[in-house]
Amino acid sequence: MKRIFPPHAYSDAPRQSCYWNTTTDTPDYPAAKGTMSADVAVIGAGFTGLNAALHLAEAGEDVVVLETHTPGWGASGRNGGFCCLGGSAASDQLLKLQYGDDARLEFRKAEWEAVKYAQALIAERGIECDTHSEGETLFAHSKAAVKSLKAQAEATERNLGVTCRFIAQEELAQNGMKGPFLAALTTPIGYALNPLKYTLGLVGAVVRAGARIHSHSPVTGISHGNGFTLTTPEATIRAKRLVVATNGYSSDDVPKWLAGRYLPTQTNIIVTRPLTDEEIAEQGWFTHQMSSDDRFLLHYFRLMPNKRMLFGMRGGLFSSPKSDIRMHQTIRQHFETMFPHWAHVETPFSWHGLVALARDLTPYTGPIPEMPGAWTSLCYHGNGVAMGSYAGALLADQMLGRSGARLHPKVMQRPHRKFPLGRLRRATLWPVYAYALAKGD
Ligand SMILES: Cc1cc2nc3c(=O)[nH]c(=O)nc-3n(C[C@H](O)[C@H](O)[C@H](O)COP(=O)(O)OP(=O)(O)OC[C@H]3O[C@@H](n4cnc5c(N)ncnc54)[C@H](O)[C@@H]3O)c2cc1C
Repeated sequence: MKRIFPPHAYSDAPRQSCYWNTTTDTPDYPAAKGTMSADVAVIGAGFTGLNAALHLAEAGEDVVVLETHTPGWGASGRNGGFCCLGGSAASDQLLKLQYGDDARLEFRKAEWEAVKYAQALIAERGIECDTHSEGETLFAHSKAAVKSLKAQAEATERNLGVTCRFIAQEELAQNGMKGPFLAALTTPIGYALNPLKYTLGLVGAVVRAGARIHSHSPVTGISHGNGFTLTTPEATIRAKRLVVATNGYSSDDVPKWLAGRYLPTQTNIIVTRPLTDEEIAEQGWFTHQMSSDDRFLLHYFRLMPNKRMLFGMRGGLFSSPKSDIRMHQTIRQHFETMFPHWAHVETPFSWHGLVALARDLTPYTGPIPEMPGAWTSLCYHGNGVAMGSYAGALLADQMLGRSGARLHPKVMQRPHRKFPLGRLRRATLWPVYAYALAKGD
């Protein structure tokens, strides 16, 4: 498979000390073997693939899910668990410029639909996934960022009719938000969850709906013509239709159409041991809100109900055992700067994974051009808990001829364009990172 990061990024090493692995057992499923057939083959058992499989199987389709490792092994089982608005990295101005104002607004509404979809799914299926937080809180680190929080509050009110709560600097401490921030803004949409438990809850629903799941079954080749023939190390699978749900773990040749159309980047997380009540009081951070700042390096953090602090940030551009150590040192340093009273607190869990960016900074959910019968959805720009789940359901709607059942915004209907530089496209990020780091952002 042609992948654009070094093999280390696709190995088990980056997720070895993922906190979520200690919170639940991951069921294994047998590898696909021999000759098999299905109505629909789904490649990838993360939020996108599992949600597509769920609705297809419940509609009576014979579905087989093929996963290189185990369900949730990719980003879905190792993310920060922020189930919130997002999916695109484009500003309102850029969306308006690229797609027009109606389409911009439609996409903002779809972000909210995605959160409602994921929350309803979790409630209806009784998925226990340790939810907490009332919406999300964004923190400003500069005067310019305070201004942009106010603009964001106005935009959310205008776009969605939702009133956000602005918290001035002098009110932060009494809200348990003592830190190097100048203000905060709470948007009352979404909550935090344990992503692995959510994924495994989905897996249970998919299996109950009658779909077959095969772990340890990397699809290494796809041929098409009168349906699809997929090759894994031990099986050949014939399927009438196909869903490619591989996001940041995609390959440039499975299928070939993907070549150059997604850009994986890394993001990493640490989790502390449980903090004592004294340590929490000393730092003055006792809110359980899912929180982030709006720096380019994008810190995201939340004090979980079990008093462990989760802290994440954008990861480096390199992948190797050495760069993992550097990435860990960097995130520790940022954690200690933001929460100096916890500088002595151990972080026994430290991991990272791949998310995917698109050239137009928007996700695509729809048919794969040039491959009739094949569908894909990818590039949620690091915000796929809600949007990846929703996009999976959107794929199933389209494949079942139920388009219109859910809001499918125009913004998500334009197939991804190619990045420049082909398999060297990771290099397009280097100047962006270098500039942001030089600015101290
Ligand atoms: C560290 C981290 C933190 C994040 N935090 C958040 C957050 O807090 N909130 C949020 O909204 N989003 C977050 N994200 C992003 C979010 O996790 C992803 O957008 C989402 O999980 C994507 O889901 P997916 O199903 O499309 O892809 P994935 O979950 O990545 O699944 C793709 C699967 O495809 C499999 N695969 C790939 N190629 C093949 C093949 N050829 N054959 C078979 N299987 C294959 C992979 O093994 C993988 O399991 C984070 C991501 C990471 C890595």
